[in-house]
Amino acid sequence: MSAEVVILGGGVGGTIVANLVAKQTQDRAHVTLVDATGIHVYQPGFLYVAVGLEQPAALNRPESRLLRDDVSLVIERAMRVDPAEHTVYLESGRRLRYDHLVLATGSRTMMGEVPGALDVYDFYTMSGAKRLFKALEGFQQGTIVIGVAGIPYKCPPAPVEFAFLLDDYLRARGIRNQTEIKLLSPLNRAFTIEATSKLVQPILAERGIELTGFFNVESVDPVAKTVTSLEGETMGYDLLILVPPHRGQEVIESSRLGDERGWVPVDKNTLKHTEFADIWAVGDTTNIPISKSGSVAHYEATVAAAEIAAEVKGEPAPAHVYDGKVMCFLETGQGKATTIRFDYDHPPVSPAPARRWHWAKALFNKTYWHTVPQGRLP
Ligand SMILES: Cc1cc2nc3c(=O)[nH]c(=O)nc-3n(C[C@H](O)[C@H](O)[C@H](O)COP(=O)(O)OP(=O)(O)OC[C@H]3O[C@@H](n4cnc5c(N)ncnc54)[C@H](O)[C@@H]3O)c2cc1C
Repeated sequence: MSAEVVILGGGVGGTIVANLVAKQTQDRAHVTLVDATGIHVYQPGFLYVAVGLEQPAALNRPESRLLRDDVSLVIERAMRVDPAEHTVYLESGRRLRYDHLVLATGSRTMMGEVPGALDVYDFYTMSGAKRLFKALEGFQQGTIVIGVAGIPYKCPPAPVEFAFLLDDYLRARGIRNQTEIKLLSPLNRAFTIEATSKLVQPILAERGIELTGFFNVESVDPVAKTVTSLEGETMGYDLLILVPPHRGQEVIESSRLGDERGWVPVDKNTLKHTEFADIWAVGDTTNIPISKSGSVAHYEATVAAAEIAAEVKGEPAPAHVYDGKVMCFLETGQGKATTIRFDYDHPPVSPAPARRWHWAKALFNKTYWHTVPQGRLP
């Protein structure tokens, strides 16, 4: 009898796990991937949609086209997991029994948690990115403020990247000298990673982007057009863009498989749930204090898949574990970018911004569909 492997979430992490487990176990496992929408969304592209450099349709693909033929796709929302019964309950009432379960449901953005912020702009959702681009098209002059309303959030460098892309956009329209860009960071530097912050801060200054540190967004007054920090500072804006607070998905919370914000506690090397030996989590949904990024989801997924395949085949656990590897690109504007690489044992390094990194990111964005979901990249 083949083992039942169930994966919740058809984003980067879940799709790679599904394809690799099916490939590595062949007919010894039946792999089922459950996704709430059936549409795979390439979220890094939201940055470009928000400044008119990408078409929204280019960021969506039916999940069915990214999965191997031997993976069963169920397009339905998972509502609850019962770890004692090894069962997932779906919205329709259907139940799925599992021998191995992978939680790969990503995160939720929660703008509603910020008082007064319901109408602010964001580039963290497809609808947010489209709405922001419309607002920018109509923007002629004044102050644009970019802030962060809660840590952790996915892709820590994204607000800095967006500030650079916005600078390019306003220059291209010839209105940069009528506008101010202010970037608010919750930390004493541009973002979490110190070495890369040191690299980008002089470039922010060069481009006239004003950086304010220790500004943890607490609330917004949409009438006075001010944003206030936990630290007690208030700043005026004409257009406010916020990174929304994030939390894990409801299915994690209703199943009591996560912490108070819905992040799933896992071993940082094996990605196994700290309490349940037949449950793994990969990607944004874990509580590992490392960048919530597609690259992390990718590397974690290859590890979790190999572990599950070994268990299915009755082989010893693979020696290769997740070593904290992260590799991201960061646009620095004007056609250049840098990269950020690190792991648990090696601190982050970022080379000087160069055109080749910008083109490498653009190439990665285009070839993503044919490489990453299938687990083809190392
Ligand atoms: C603006 C922006 C820029 C970014 N830039 C980068 C970048 O340059 N590099 C990088 O590495 N990362 C980047 N990221 C982050 C990256 O997109 C995420 O970290 C990555 O998508 C996480 O993968 P995941 O598989 O954990 O979750 P996701 O890709 O979010 O997938 C989760 C899936 O779970 C499904 N789901 C949720 N709840 C349920 C449920 N109850 N039942 C069934 N299915 C469910 C959803 O439909 C979704 O398909 C960026 C993100 C944003 C927003």
